[in-house]
Amino acid sequence: MSYIQFLGAAGTVTGSKHLVDAGGNSTGNSGVQILIDCGMFQGPKEWRERNWQDLPIPVGEIDAVVLTHAHLDHCGWIPRLVKQGFRGPIYATPATTDLCSILLPDSGHLQEEDAAFYNKHQTSKHTPALPLYTFEEAQACLEYFQPLPTDTGKQLSPALSFRFVRAAHILGSAMVELTLETDGQRRRLLFTGDIGRVHDQEVAPGKVVHSGPVEGERADILVMESTYGNRQHPTDDPRPQLAATIRETLARGGSVVVPAFAVERTQKFLFMLKELMESGQIGRVPVYCDSPMAIQAVEIFMKHSEEYTEVTRRLVTQFGSPLTWPGFQFASTVEQSKRISQLKDPSIIVSSSGMATGGRILHHLAQRLPDPKTTVVFIGFQAQGTRGFTIKSGASEVKIFGEIVPIRAQVVSFEQFSDHADTPELLEWLRTFQGIPGRTYLVHGDPDASSELRDVMSQKLGWNVQVARWMEKVNV
Ligand SMILES: [Zn+2]
Repeated sequence: MSYIQFLGAAGTVTGSKHLVDAGGNSTGNSGVQILIDCGMFQGPKEWRERNWQDLPIPVGEIDAVVLTHAHLDHCGWIPRLVKQGFRGPIYATPATTDLCSILLPDSGHLQEEDAAFYNKHQTSKHTPALPLYTFEEAQACLEYFQPLPTDTGKQLSPALSFRFVRAAHILGSAMVELTLETDGQRRRLLFTGDIGRVHDQEVAPGKVVHSGPVEGERADILVMESTYGNRQHPTDDPRPQLAATIRETLARGGSVVVPAFAVERTQKFLFMLKELMESGQIGRVPVYCDSPMAIQAVEIFMKHSEEYTEVTRRLVTQFGSPLTWPGFQFASTVEQSKRISQLKDPSIIVSSSGMATGGRILHHLAQRLPDPKTTVVFIGFQAQGTRGFTIKSGASEVKIFGEIVPIRAQVVSFEQFSDHADTPELLEWLRTFQGIPGRTYLVHGDPDASSELRDVMSQKLGWNVQVARWMEKVNV
């Protein structure tokens, strides 16, 4: 008997982790157990605390990890898994592998910093506060990565094989098509990971990787994300309003602070700023890209040109690498970051993390949120319980580093930048399927989003859809 168990991203948008147990057969062959994604829980404490729990099976019994993409809510628990004794291969696309080589050590570093901060200020109930894993532990897990290009089959056992197919979410992102023989039957499972926009330029201006997820899929069981299961992205071009917001902020002597994930979202935003500057829609103010990964993220982006959209290819040909643009500065060191946070002259600061859950953006926000001249521009999804969510929802104050920071800055958010398909786009993609999957399980959504998408899929497509519950086991 084979099963899937939802160990994360069920009832929430983080902690993606699905165990596939390809059970042994009646002749006594032992089964194979793999994890599809191995993400970290983020956001509310009730979820984050699950990062400290053990998996329901011994880590040593997991044969492999198959990773859809490099966002921490999909890969950020890998160092913890290796710390606990996992020694198998971690399969990921070449671009995802490269991104993990900078993102995971950075994550370890952030957790060490957070633990040190809480210990110094004794603001944690746990004494001493510990990191989930360290920078070094995160580096140690990288040797287990085995890059596998998309559309290339991989046999994990006589009964189990998989391949990656394009998901068009971020650089390197993929879905996992898994084929499994169980009880004499061949079953096909599709794990979407996160699904990119179905069209690119018209609906997602500035999108930099592939236009649309692979079409014409089929599956007996579909495990699908539902982040935007109850929403529709605005379809208007954000550039005029973005340019106006930047012009107004600079005119009153303020700076624009942009929390953005260092990979993909930041590159997308930088190319957009460059276009706005070159076309004269905003002035040539200094742009600071502040992240320990800032330079490497751009280098990896430039390296994997196989992932570009046509428009991105043209922009790269026209403008070259962002690392060479006059007026754009990339801060890797802490000293550079401190200098930026003390600058008085108007500038644009792009820094991570995108939901203000950690990272250097916190210093910039702590410094500039009390200043009414500042504008904070959100260009990404803000999960419930994150600081980003608090700031975006119009709160008058927010806690940063244990201190209450008043919010007097202007706060503006754009939904157009999303790298997730919205409900109409998901339906459009699902309509390309060859046949109806026997069962669909929705994961990676807040409860309202998942249940609305379930209803819409049942009504409009006639599919058998269920919302996955945390720790639920379903037979394959
Ligand atoms: Zn993602």
